[in-house]
Amino acid sequence: MIDHEALGWAPGTVGELDHHLLKAPSVKLRGAHPGPAGDTVYCIDLRLRRPNAGESLGSAESHSLEHFLLEGFQRLLPRHFIGVGVMGCRTGFYLTLHNEGRRARIEDALETILRGVLAATAVPYARIDQCGHWRDHDLARAQAVAREVLERRAAWRDIA
Ligand SMILES: [Zn+2]
Repeated sequence: MIDHEALGWAPGTVGELDHHLLKAPSVKLRGAHPGPAGDTVYCIDLRLRRPNAGESLGSAESHSLEHFLLEGFQRLLPRHFIGVGVMGCRTGFYLTLHNEGRRARIEDALETILRGVLAATAVPYARIDQCGHWRDHDLARAQAVAREVLERRAAWRDIA
């Protein structure tokens, strides 16, 4: 049994919620999946924009942010990071971690990564030998999104 509340996730916010209700930017636990050896895989939604509100991210900025999140979570949580991917609706990202489900730790890492986006002069892994659509990046727009999400840091727990 996983104690979601002890990890910092408010009761009633875990799992799939009606997308009419979702607020953004927010960090939400979608699922915690225990394995047979006492290990746990955590699936977290990093929702940057409200669903169905005409606010979805553009292709290039979401792609660039995905690269920053990939580089950053790998660097900051190397023993826990499994993967990160763009939501198809482009309102956020799916983050998967192994044996790290503490909200505060995840939020701190996200904040560090977004501050890094603001300071960056290039998108990581964006060379033609590293990326499948290397021209589809936009650092300036990714920085604008990062700034907007950081400005609302206090509201990341306001999920629905
Ligand atoms: Zn890429």
